[in-house]
Amino acid sequence: KTVGFKIAIDGPAGAGKSTIAKRVAKELGFIYVDTGAMYRAIALYFLQNQIDTSDEETVREALNGIQVSIAYENGEQQILLNGENVTGSIRREEVGNMASVTSAYPAVRKKLLSLQRELAASADVIMDGRDIGTCVLPKAPLKIYLTASVKTRAKRRYEELTEKKIPCNIEEICKDIEERDYRDMHRDVSPLCQAEDAVLVDSSDMTIQEVTDAIVGYARERQAKA
Ligand code: C5P
Repeated sequence: KTVGFKIAIDGPAGAGKSTIAKRVAKELGFIYVDTGAMYRAIALYFLQNQIDTSDEETVREALNGIQVSIAYENGEQQILLNGENVTGSIRREEVGNMASVTSAYPAVRKKLLSLQRELAASADVIMDGRDIGTCVLPKAPLKIYLTASVKTRAKRRYEELTEKKIPCNIEEICKDIEERDYRDMHRDVSPLCQAEDAVLVDSSDMTIQEVTDAIVGYARERQAKA
């Protein structure tokens, strides 16, 4: 096995990146790093402290009061905001939407970049996000761009939320997804886009297992060549 193998998975919200990345990590014995959780932790802080996120300077100052770190519990990533475990509370839609707004600020991205690179340097990792293949780990030997149609992604999110008994509405989810895609793809710094050397996987008509197998297959192929 090649030491220091990295897999970058990028793609729009709700494409199934975290579900897939967790499974691939398990099969390959890699560590899964969820970078969206880091942006969410910062967004949670802004929400809790009623930071005026429309003002860049205010956001920049608020960042000084934020420390984001990662721990692993039974192999699962835990996200700590100023020492407090916020892994559960960052999953709310409101937090995801705020994360997609505030992740456009260069200062927010800069704060998280070194943490992400440090984590990648410490082990074989599969890291998911929006800019992993294009910015965080440009030399990753395997890059995947995982996507699915808006309709499929909205349906999956709806089912996920309904299962957790979180009230939701499919039209609203669709609208949120479209807005989030637009913001993530059109920001100036590290917008979401497929890296030139990334493999495109459209999961619209694939099962979780099929996507997992495909990515594990690519990883084994590349590892054998490396
Ligand atoms: O993936 P997740 O939905 O948890 O990410 C929340 C938000 O964080 C995204 O909509 C995106 O704006 C931002 N993000 C990012 N870069 C990453 C990961 C997440 O900008 N690498």
